[in-house]
Order: sequence, then structure tokens, then C-alpha cells
Amino acid sequence: MPQRLHVQRGLVFVVSAPSGAGKTTLCGRLVKEYGDFDLSISTTTRPPRRGETQGVEYRFVSVAQFRAKIDAGEFVEWAEVHGNYYGTSRRFLEERLSQGRDVLLDIDVQGGLQLRRHLQESILIFIMPPSLETLQQRLRQRGADAEAEIKRRLEGAKKELACVRQYDYAIINRDITESLAQLRSIILAERQRSSRYCPPPDIAPFVPRAGGS
Ligand code: 5GP
Repeated sequence: MPQRLHVQRGLVFVVSAPSGAGKTTLCGRLVKEYGDFDLSISTTTRPPRRGETQGVEYRFVSVAQFRAKIDAGEFVEWAEVHGNYYGTSRRFLEERLSQGRDVLLDIDVQGGLQLRRHLQESILIFIMPPSLETLQQRLRQRGADAEAEIKRRLEGAKKELACVRQYDYAIINRDITESLAQLRSIILAERQRSSRYCPPPDIAPFVPRAGGS
């Protein structure tokens, strides 16, 4: 059997952002334009929105079913976001990683930080709005939420932005094409880390001589 020179296990990429930063559009473009990773499908108690299909965007479950899954240890992380529960399936993640597939998780900051505790090697990427004012404008332009809800989301956004330094990378989403290129370059660079490669097992590496030439 040929000696493998690279690590076969896949990588975990976590993408988080305050709501209104443009994360969903960005992840959607990434999936559409590059198919070389799997998107984790979360389980949620949120009711499906128009156009969403069971098992495609999410696995939609009741609160009782979600609690049973927590008790059974089925989630590698879970969190309450805007009044609903969301969780990442441990089994899905493990299966794909052991098949050598990279997995992208579109989850909130609480989830990203929890995941980092369990899977230290996960790569955390934070999507930021250009400013708090832009975020406010974007939330208003959506027109989907009442003023009180917009205020609540803005407060939540500030708390999430306070965690940016706990992430490995940050992208300021000014322009979707530019942000997509930045996200793609992070993914490509992480795949080329030397820790992803295996030296031959029976040979000691060079030790540099002390004191130069
Ligand atoms: P939405 O309901 O708008 O699809 O998502 C609301 C928020 O929940 C987004 O920030 C999304 O990233 C986050 N989210 C989706 N799935 C998960 C998950 O499995 N775990 C956590 N912690 N957050 C999630």
C-alpha cells in the first residue's frame, strides 16, 4: 500500500455573523460556486419558512424532539437563537470528516465557540458588517421585522461582534464578490497547512545546527 503523505480527515469550517451581515448569501454563493465541501444541515425547532424543505435547509423538529436529541447526546453543539433551538448533528459531522470531506457550518457565535471547545482544530470565520450603521440599515431594509425586533437583533449583534477576536479569521462584508474571494482563500490556505501533511514515519527530521553556518 502506498505511504500516504497527507491527513485524510476533513476540516471543519465554521462561519458565523450577526444577523444582517450577509452570511447566508455568502455561504449560498460559496456552495453554488465550489462543491468541494459539505454543508452541515442543522436541526431546528423554528418552523419552516416559505420555500424551505424538510431535510434540505434544516431538519425541522418539535421542541420535545429537540430536547430528546440533547439528552441522547446527538448534538456536537446547540444553542437558542432568537427564541428557537438549533443544533449540529454529531453523527453527520463525524461521518463526513472521517470520509475526508471538509464540512462548512453556518451557525451562530455561541455554537461556534462551543464547537471550538469540543473540536479544537475547527476553523472559525467571522463575517462582519462594515459598520453598526450599515447593519442597522440592512435590518431595516429587509422590512421583515418590527422595530422592537430590529432593536433586539442589533443588541444581539453587538454581543456577537464582541467575540470577533475569539475567531481565527474575520471578513468585512462590503461587497459579496470580494468577501467570497476572501472566504475561498481562507479555505484554500487552511487546506495547505503543513499540519495537514505527514512526514515519512521512520525518518527523523533535520535538526538545524546551532550558531548558523
Ligand atoms: P435562520 O433561522 O435565520 O436560518 O438562522 C438563525 C441563526 O441560527 C443563524 O445565525 C444561523 O447561523 C444559526 N444557526 C443555524 N443552525 C445552527 C446550529 O446548528 N447551531 C447554532 N448554534 N446556530 C445555528
